[in-house]
Amino acid sequence: MEMDELLACFLTERKSRQLLITEYEAWLNNIVQMSSKKLEHLITTNNFGYRQNIQNTINLELNNRISIANLEVDKLHTGKFLLCQVISKCVKLSPLFTLVEDPEGNVERIALYNWAEQSAIPVKSRKKVLTIFEASEFLPIGTKLVIKNPYYQIASSFNAIINPNGPSTFIDFDAIIRSDNPNDVIVINQNNELLNNIKWSNNLKQKIKEANKKSAVDDKILSADDFRQSGNKYFVSNDFAAAVDEYSSGIKLDPNNATLLANRAEAYLRLNQFDKALNDVEIVLKNEPDHLKAAFRKGKALCGLKRYQEAIVVLKDLDLKMQINTDNSITPVKQSTKTLLKHVEMLDSESRYGKYDYIKIIDEFCEKVKINQENDDWVCETGPRLDHADFLIGDIEVRPVKKKGRGWVAKRDIPEGTLLIASKAFEIVYGNEAPLSYRSIDFTSKTMITATHSELVARIARKLIAEPDLCQEVYKLYAGPEIENLGENSVDVRKIEKIIKYNFFETKDQWGIMNSTKENSRLTKDSGAGLWIMPSFFNHSCVDTNVEQLIIGDMIFLRTCQPVLSGKELVLSYCSPLGSYDERSNSLRLHGIKNCSCRLCNLERSESKKVKLRQTEILRTYENSLGPQVKSSLFSANFNSSLIKELTKSIDELKDLRKEHLDLEFQSFNIKVDLAAAYVRDGNLRRSLPVAIEVYKFVKTAQVPQFSSNAAYQVASRYARLDKMKEAKEWWDVALKELAEPIRGKFTKEETKWRKEAMYLAEKLSPKMVSGAKNKGLL
Ligand SMILES: [Zn+2]
Repeated sequence: MEMDELLACFLTERKSRQLLITEYEAWLNNIVQMSSKKLEHLITTNNFGYRQNIQNTINLELNNRISIANLEVDKLHTGKFLLCQVISKCVKLSPLFTLVEDPEGNVERIALYNWAEQSAIPVKSRKKVLTIFEASEFLPIGTKLVIKNPYYQIASSFNAIINPNGPSTFIDFDAIIRSDNPNDVIVINQNNELLNNIKWSNNLKQKIKEANKKSAVDDKILSADDFRQSGNKYFVSNDFAAAVDEYSSGIKLDPNNATLLANRAEAYLRLNQFDKALNDVEIVLKNEPDHLKAAFRKGKALCGLKRYQEAIVVLKDLDLKMQINTDNSITPVKQSTKTLLKHVEMLDSESRYGKYDYIKIIDEFCEKVKINQENDDWVCETGPRLDHADFLIGDIEVRPVKKKGRGWVAKRDIPEGTLLIASKAFEIVYGNEAPLSYRSIDFTSKTMITATHSELVARIARKLIAEPDLCQEVYKLYAGPEIENLGENSVDVRKIEKIIKYNFFETKDQWGIMNSTKENSRLTKDSGAGLWIMPSFFNHSCVDTNVEQLIIGDMIFLRTCQPVLSGKELVLSYCSPLGSYDERSNSLRLHGIKNCSCRLCNLERSESKKVKLRQTEILRTYENSLGPQVKSSLFSANFNSSLIKELTKSIDELKDLRKEHLDLEFQSFNIKVDLAAAYVRDGNLRRSLPVAIEVYKFVKTAQVPQFSSNAAYQVASRYARLDKMKEAKEWWDVALKELAEPIRGKFTKEETKWRKEAMYLAEKLSPKMVSGAKNKGLL
């Protein structure tokens, strides 16, 4: 059957209300029978349903309402909304599925993507499939919903969804109402005036969680204090969103109730909604200027809003006030105020002067990055999210850049090793935090979106819904060539996804610390991805970069790696220049970069077919036969010395093929590393030494800082074995500096204690190298 016929079939033949209900109930039964293991692969999503022209401001007037019977298949009903009520239980796979009915009694199934997203689910339950009971708590039967811009799509039928082989024939497809944008779905209150003039053919009473719980006290009118008590109950069970709801109901009854407002402020703080927390404590302090907890929370909220100096004033004031108070009961607040004040002073100095205590930061990182061996979760609840401030140097600014849109440009001369930006991730998702088997396909670029990317989009959407003011910060980032008119404070998942696509940074495990705390962690396959706002304005270049990035936890530090003249653009590399042209192009395509115009890419595009063919041939022979032979021979009893000749020949030929541009000859990197090792294995340390030095220089020109420390250490250890201890120690110093300087900046000559500091970092980050150096007498 052709697609058109299929569509026609859906247009003419609608399933009856009863058939839809029966089918849905049968499907629920099937799901109950299935083990959750079998359902795990279904936690997938794709953005196939995203459509353009989503309208953000839809008046909920009855003439914009559309009934299910009037929905057209394969059409996005822009500017319309569907009013419906939930009539059955929910299933949470990737979307939240349920069955709805409109006032006229028409029934259809709906799929709400990104709405009850994974991040709304407590971490502990995130990795399993939710039961129907748990899923139905999101939308209990009787819940009235408004779905804006409803999209009526043809998708896998319910039975095909749970069939591991997916839909096979056209019978396996069915129509479904689909919504991708969480902002388009509104749960409406029973006494919403929209419902005043609506008659439901079947009116269901909403059986919400609270209603059930309170049934015993149904007749009793709840007081502000009742709401305070139930809010506190939610608070201690860490359900801060529910606590906020309860406190809010109480505040409605008693708008100036200091306890309720102060409690709600604390719940907002836990949800990182600092603006709202600040509002609440301001009201409390206006009426009760001596409310200690409110003042303390004001300090916290200001700190969360990065208004450090104001936070310091508030906390110092509070500290003074409490000094004269001898009441023992306030000792805990006294203590916390002092601790918080010290912390905010640190953040203030970080954000104003770029002064970071790198030793402490590395300690904090090593502590927070530990992984629970059993369940792959972080030992520390927040994982390696560090508590530090952003910094932006005054010497750079974002300017228009030829052919690249915008980019960071130096306003004056900047020396090498200068910290330009330190930035905390706007949002970050680590590999072990993404839902299992969560896949997604970007149909426009035909690329797979990883689990962490999908989760990142969902979390950012969630964050923007909670704090719409943050939209502007995210929306100023590049979102692709298509111009879209969007409300500035409106959440659009499709736009967020594009912004992530062009601006994400992959998190790195450059010291292999995540790997060392747990083998085979999900972090090994996918370390994670994050969105950093300021660093996103750096453009890419494969070579000739002047900025180096270092990721520690959720912080990025960007430093100049060579002196930069005023007016020059600051560029960093999104991918290693050691990869082949194709490998680089592929990873750049993920960032939306089509034709990199760096020196290396230009050269590789201009090389003749003959040259390219020969290069590919040499590299393929190395990868498929020579390389593996060398590796196995290195560890066998009899080393095959003839391999050295072949390695040398390959290197020489690759050099010859690029003899006019020797500084861009990066392809022989791995072969050189092997050659240096082969010489050592062959007992020829003297010949190995210059190759090892060449490898180090190579890493320096290619600017791959994560290898440079080890490359210098390799040289040091060869000198040591040749008993040239003076040279060996000099190179060991180079190795130490190569490890420490990308983190803390260049050591200045006056710093006599540099070695102690570098050793501390090396012992934390590269313990194997340090113990090797000890054995060789380098320390
Ligand atoms: Zn390039």
